[in-house]
Amino acid sequence: MVIIEHHLVREKHHFKRMLVAFKACVDGFLNGYRPYLSIDSIFLTGRFRGQLATACAVDGHNWLFPVVFAIMECEDSENWEWFMEKLHDCIGDPIGLAICTDAGKGLNVIKTVLKNAEHRECMRHLVTNFKKRFRGKVFDENLWAAAYAWQPEQFEKHMSKMVAANPDVLTYLTETHPNLWMRCKFSELAKVDYVTNNLAESFNSWIRKFKAMHVGDLVEKLRQKLMLKFDQRRRIGRNMAGLVLPHIYNDLKMRSYGLKYKIQRSDDDIAEVYGKHWTFTKDQLVDFKHVVDLKGMTCTCRSWQISGKSCPHAIAFITYLREENLQLYVDRSYTIEKFRAAYKRKIPAMTDKKQWPKPDKGFFLYPPLLRRPAGRQKHIDLRLLMKGVIRRKGEEVHMSAQSATNMGTTGTLVEKEIQKLKKSLHC
Ligand SMILES: [Zn+2]
Repeated sequence: MVIIEHHLVREKHHFKRMLVAFKACVDGFLNGYRPYLSIDSIFLTGRFRGQLATACAVDGHNWLFPVVFAIMECEDSENWEWFMEKLHDCIGDPIGLAICTDAGKGLNVIKTVLKNAEHRECMRHLVTNFKKRFRGKVFDENLWAAAYAWQPEQFEKHMSKMVAANPDVLTYLTETHPNLWMRCKFSELAKVDYVTNNLAESFNSWIRKFKAMHVGDLVEKLRQKLMLKFDQRRRIGRNMAGLVLPHIYNDLKMRSYGLKYKIQRSDDDIAEVYGKHWTFTKDQLVDFKHVVDLKGMTCTCRSWQISGKSCPHAIAFITYLREENLQLYVDRSYTIEKFRAAYKRKIPAMTDKKQWPKPDKGFFLYPPLLRRPAGRQKHIDLRLLMKGVIRRKGEEVHMSAQSATNMGTTGTLVEKEIQKLKKSLHC
């Protein structure tokens, strides 16, 4: 699906925004991915600027995947609402969908468009904002620990230490960061336990080289990149054998070595697992006792339910039973079958754009209207510049002899300099 919107300004049709969603990506997301999306936008650096907004999913291998992307004039609530509505048209409102965004993106419309979605917030951005208001050892030791805590009791323990140090913490976090940033409150359906929005950073590095391109070329580059990734991962999936993705299985095996926990069975599938573990700050060993239920795939530490991967307590019980297979106790989203389903469809190959059909829209589509960048604008008198004079802090300053000579003697250099300034001023 490709949607291009334009608006009429002084009787000319100007490009406003566009959204691209490949069927292979949408179907792959719905059939093979966990219901988790990272939504963010990146500033484009080409002549027409604008923002590239994306909704990225993550497969069982933790590989990034853009499901839908859009090019918008700017990041405002109207554009985000439009983006969310189009995303809804593509994927519907899947059960258990969790959406992670950065704070202050104007993305408050998520819940109005995707009513079942859980809105999560990037912890890294929260911490940056938090540190502008609250500083001290107690916050350093407890804020991240509160975010990473799997259990509500652990979360409350860290929160109460911060609130005791400064009661304003609670009001600040409730009012300024109302979305979910603490793992203990994440739903158990998404099976993604990230507390930061790292996918957005990964996507940024995906497209870093294309950010200055013309819109058409940028979209074509993204399509080609997706086509190659689909092909590459489809072949990887074809060569896999077993039930669970190899890197997940290897990780479980590694974590099963050297576990010194004690097991007390209550039934064939239920046991108490106890021992000692390090606190978040790694400065203290404390006792724990958890109940593992293999049939229900739960542990009272809650890490298994939220991440979908068996926790150390479950691994200890599974390996204690010996006849059990670690691969049977991982969520289906980490299976090879799901991975293959994610990359089943192909992104179509395309010819050079010179061979593309020319649609008759009945009007000429002009480029987007250029917007002035935010902040104070520079004012440069082009007539003075032609004479080799620039204004600095209100005073006229003559340019260096070499620059003035170059500009005065070489017409093309003057023209080039003026074009450069015009471009920076968007005029
Ligand atoms: Zn556990």
